[in-house]
Amino acid sequence: MATIGFIGLGNMGAPMAANLVKAQHRIAGYDIVAEARAALAANGGHAAAGIAEAAAAGDIVITMLPAGPQVRAVYLGPDGIIAHARPGALLIDCSTIDVETARLVAATAAAKGLEMLDAPVSGGVIGAEAATLTFMVGGGDAAFARAEPVLRAMGRTIVHAGPAGSGQTAKICNNMILAASMIAVCEGFALAEKLGLPAQTLFDICSKSTSQCWAMTGYCPVPGPVPAAPSNRGYAAGFTAANMLKDLRLAQQAAGATAAATPLGAAAANLYQLYVDSGGGAFDFSGIMQFLARVEPSK
Ligand code: NAD
Repeated sequence: MATIGFIGLGNMGAPMAANLVKAQHRIAGYDIVAEARAALAANGGHAAAGIAEAAAAGDIVITMLPAGPQVRAVYLGPDGIIAHARPGALLIDCSTIDVETARLVAATAAAKGLEMLDAPVSGGVIGAEAATLTFMVGGGDAAFARAEPVLRAMGRTIVHAGPAGSGQTAKICNNMILAASMIAVCEGFALAEKLGLPAQTLFDICSKSTSQCWAMTGYCPVPGPVPAAPSNRGYAAGFTAANMLKDLRLAQQAAGATAAATPLGAAAANLYQLYVDSGGGAFDFSGIMQFLARVEPSK
């Protein structure tokens, strides 16, 4: 049993912290939203009065924040985690953020003698509630070994990807591949419909052919072939198009910084931007099917 500071008790952080409480860890949690702190207290955690208190309370400090700017503020600020963490505390950031910020914060922590891991997740709110998240972890071997038993209380698959920033790298590459494959699957089904081929027939063939991929067989964007997919419930998220766009932007930022050629990633980012601008941001990312199906071809 560890004492853990947990900062960022939103859609993901709240169920993750609740699972740590269930696993008998002592949690001192903080969120700028008072209702989130009250919910933690109702679930058996301690609601800290601020970041400094939550940071100083734990042998381990976990964060689950919206994006890079919040991570920089919460870790690097004068009232932040690095200024107030206990000597020898292990810091774990589970937010999805840019690789540059992940490396900067880890280096700043290391300069103060604190070990840090970037540990973004996949699995969404359902995975956070069920403690079946996948953690993609960047940082040192000793820190990973220390973190693993705690991450196990929140996830099923814990992968050590490499040094600092590697977890974020794995996350944005995975989601860039996923977005491009989702769009390709949508286009295939949209074309088949125009040509008069039923979706189920295309699925039966492609799911056993060379175009088979998770976007098709695990999460089919057309209603019918995969009953559990969001397409069967009006594209209710799941993983929102807004969050997919965020990750695609992070991938494009990283591609720009490293001069990596990602033309499909760039096209996917543009299409998700259009989908979000058209009102699709809160829908599941597979809802881009509806958007692609109604786009008029350019003359
Ligand atoms: P969220 O907005 O619901 O939660 C973030 C929480 O951080 C909020 O409660 C907010 O009040 C709090 N916060 C912001 N600034 C703070 C500060 N300075 N101090 C203390 N608390 C602060 O977001 P979420 O859906 O829980 O996502 C969190 C992270 O997980 C994001 O990086 C997201 O990209 C990633 N992620 C989300 C999902 C998903 O399905 N929601 C899936 C995988 C990864």
